[in-house]
Amino acid sequence: MNKNIDQDRILNYLNQNKVKEDICDHSDFIEWNEETDEIKTVVEKIGKITLPSNSSKNKNCWRKDSKIELDKYPYLECEIHQCQKCKSIFFHHIELTGNAPQRRYRLLRKELIDLDSIKPKVRIIIDSEPFKYQVYKNPDLSYEISICKPVALGIDIYHKLTKQEEVEYLKNGIKALQNRIEDMDGNYNKYKVVSWR
Ligand SMILES: [Zn+2]
Repeated sequence: MNKNIDQDRILNYLNQNKVKEDICDHSDFIEWNEETDEIKTVVEKIGKITLPSNSSKNKNCWRKDSKIELDKYPYLECEIHQCQKCKSIFFHHIELTGNAPQRRYRLLRKELIDLDSIKPKVRIIIDSEPFKYQVYKNPDLSYEISICKPVALGIDIYHKLTKQEEVEYLKNGIKALQNRIEDMDGNYNKYKVVSWR
């Protein structure tokens, strides 16, 4: 079991993590909520966000649909916990101001993660579908996509997203890159190709 999930690994981990539906009801934690006896007993720490503090604060981080900006309060020092029953993943934040520490959890929903807030130290995988595509974010903050193709012993085809593609991708997800994927597949000689050999 992986216990060292951080801001660079979290997206790939979410891609691979299969939540078992209908086992738990964690709907109270769609927004940040206080720790309950129940949640305390089912979660286990699997990692931590470790980012230098970004002085600008989230404007509205407490709502159900508030974006998850990893480099801002309250996420930048959050622990990452996982329910041992259903595999749901939570952020865990301990507020130390005030008299007693306040322990809060929020269910982690991938679609709310603000990709702009991720500044990776190495190239990270932010989205993938096995045998179809992988999307990466590079340390220089550019985005890249690769697909594989059973040519020779197998090749990977890479393309760095154009600014336009990046904007579309951040807005609409992988479907924004459908034409590009088809072009990469059909005209792979135009692209950077890495052989599996
Ligand atoms: Zn659960």
